[in-house]
Amino acid sequence: MPGQPGIFTSKTRFELAKMTAQRIDGTAVAKSIRAQVAQRAAALTAKGNQPGLAVVLVGDDSASAVYVRNKIKACEEAGVCSVLEKYEASLSEADLLARVAALNADARIHGILVQMPLPKHIDAHKVIEAISPKKDVDGFSLMSAGELASGLDGFKACTPWGCMKLIESTGVPIKGKHAVVIGRSNTVGKPMALMLLQANATVTVCHSATTDLAAHVRQADIVVAAVGRRNTVTGEMLKPGAIVIDVGMNRHPEGHPNAGKLCGDVDFESANAVAGYITPVPGGVGPMTIAMLLSNTLDSAECG
Ligand code: NAP
Repeated sequence: MPGQPGIFTSKTRFELAKMTAQRIDGTAVAKSIRAQVAQRAAALTAKGNQPGLAVVLVGDDSASAVYVRNKIKACEEAGVCSVLEKYEASLSEADLLARVAALNADARIHGILVQMPLPKHIDAHKVIEAISPKKDVDGFSLMSAGELASGLDGFKACTPWGCMKLIESTGVPIKGKHAVVIGRSNTVGKPMALMLLQANATVTVCHSATTDLAAHVRQADIVVAAVGRRNTVTGEMLKPGAIVIDVGMNRHPEGHPNAGKLCGDVDFESANAVAGYITPVPGGVGPMTIAMLLSNTLDSAECG
């Protein structure tokens, strides 16, 4: 009988089938971008100008070591020459700045990435600003941030730029949509909001002092969560059909059935039942950051 628990008419089955968001496969989108990068790298190498990325790691932070290893591996796979410079945590700020200056002057290097965080005695802003604007493939410098804010071409921060590619991969036009970005960091939230604005979305930025986050999220056709806190967004906060991009990287706590496993800022299960499109964690935004880093490096190398 219709309405009786456990017994579904064909109509309700259809409705239930529709109540699952389409998965945005970041691994597949990143793979396709990396394949394009490999083609571009091969073309440049054939002309005697192999693209080169320098990655500088200071100290022994284990997470940073993993990120750096993944970046070097991605370079190798794409035919981009990588130069890894590893230093003890005791490296002085002056010595690091001298290394950045040397890499700025090295014609084989088209992109420079200094892995964050740096040891406390080194001023990260000073180091980022020391990187030549022509080689700022992380897009973190004031010049790159200013270009983005002014709507000019320049290196775009890799994670939000990757999120834009994921939104574009849905085929849903961004123009005229209401986007809500949760988080306002200089590396993710703010550049994300500016990129969406540049793409003609109407943008709301929420943060820790936002009152009634749910009321804002409920208005959104596009939600980007970049907070670093599990379950910040749940299905009941979403507008049906919304595009949900989950940047967060968190771990399920002790006592959870998936304790210790990676999760995002969005409660995937409840959001999946309401959203139109959704990124999983892992396999959503994560793979895009390195893909966009390589893409920025190729843009730099192609400029000569
Ligand atoms: P962040 O610098 O700590 O910024 C977090 C932002 O979230 C801040 O703007 C903060 O507001 C806001 N926030 C905190 N609590 C909130 C709440 N209850 N409601 C609304 N907003 C709140 O972090 P981030 O570097 O932007 O990174 C965010 C997350 O993305 C982290 O989990 C990080 O690991 C992940 N991430 C992933 C990738 C990737 O490749 N997948 C790359 C980068 C970052 P205030 O400004 O008011 O403090």
